[in-house]
Amino acid sequence: MAWSKTTGGSRGYGWEWRRTRERILERDGHRCTILDEDGNRCTEPAHAVDHRVGKAEGGTDDPSNLRSICRWHHVRVTARQSVEARKNRPSRFRPQERHPGLLP
Ligand SMILES: [Zn+2]
Repeated sequence: MAWSKTTGGSRGYGWEWRRTRERILERDGHRCTILDEDGNRCTEPAHAVDHRVGKAEGGTDDPSNLRSICRWHHVRVTARQSVEARKNRPSRFRPQERHPGLLP
């Protein structure tokens, strides 16, 4: 009789997240909230809810840390975040700079 079998979603995207997501989309009018350099809001329909501060960096599911985002911006933001994450990793393979004096 227990519901324990159906809790699943222990990875953070269970029913609770779906509800939060709906609330954020509702709050933002189902539109992307990203602003361009001139401060104009993106006009695309929201396709996902994004964390302003990624969970890996200590971000929460609080509405203040969530924003609606379109597919295009989502790809861009996600790509940038993974670049940031990579930057924090020490690189042992720096490209060697050639001494200007040695160039032909
Ligand atoms: Zn957008």
